[in-house]
Amino acid sequence: MEEENMIVPTNIAYTSCILQNNIEQLKKKYRFLRTGNIGYSVLGKPIPYIKIGSGTNEVMYSASIHANEWITSVVLMKFVENFCKAYEKNEKIYGYSTREIFNKSSIYIVPMVNPDGVDLVTGVIPENTGRYNQFKDISLNFPSIPFPSGWKANFNGVDLNLQFPAGWVNAKRIKYAQGYNKPAPRDFVGYGPLTEPEALALYNFTLIHNFRLILAYHSQGQVIYWKYADFLPEDSEEIGKKFAEVSSYTLDLTPPESAYAGYKDWFIQEYNRPGYTIEVGLGTNPLPISQFNKIYNDNIGILVLGAIL
Ligand SMILES: [Zn+2]
Repeated sequence: MEEENMIVPTNIAYTSCILQNNIEQLKKKYRFLRTGNIGYSVLGKPIPYIKIGSGTNEVMYSASIHANEWITSVVLMKFVENFCKAYEKNEKIYGYSTREIFNKSSIYIVPMVNPDGVDLVTGVIPENTGRYNQFKDISLNFPSIPFPSGWKANFNGVDLNLQFPAGWVNAKRIKYAQGYNKPAPRDFVGYGPLTEPEALALYNFTLIHNFRLILAYHSQGQVIYWKYADFLPEDSEEIGKKFAEVSSYTLDLTPPESAYAGYKDWFIQEYNRPGYTIEVGLGTNPLPISQFNKIYNDNIGILVLGAIL
């Protein structure tokens, strides 16, 4: 049987431009989608969100806060497309009624928190341009990190997942001691929390909603991190165990050197509600897009259960 025309490609490097085009096409095809921007990157690129559903149970899934983890954007965008397709035909997704999910929940998807960094790693910023050289200059201070494939940070060389006010001073102490005391391809916490527009946008977008749960998508390791400090949000461990079961990923504690200032850390601290970092796939970032099908199949259960548990 011929597969009907799909919008989101799962076999090419996924840039911010492709993302914007895909969102436009999905909106035209699926009129019930709501979209907008949570803010703009350092280089002025929009950071879009997509809302699926009209229910009171608000949840939020984000991806590509780290540049060389752009495969996570494809996971969320393909989920959006597959959900829409099933909803339109009144079909189920992962065994659950899309109508029921749509009426019960509002799923907010922020598929690419760091568009500037993603565009560097996916190769759409031409070499020997001013922008490219600015990334390159930062990376020259860290010659052991491959360029551009090892780049995780934003255009300013700040690691956006070390920008949140949850033990930020601890993160700073740890990362400075490791030598990340200035703009870097990864692991530089910045000169203060929320100095970067991408992190601030995610923070503000979270504050104006009432999220019951958040998923922060990263690569790699096939592991789910669920804890921050001594917080024990109700249902958090139980939901984490279900996520581990449906994905066959390992539920684990965050390594001590990465235990602070992440988005999910701040969410747990601020709301005492379930927040998860999901590390998809196995290998060296950026993971080859050939891993996409396995990653998607591993994660569809998490994406569906996240909206109804
Ligand atoms: Zn990451």
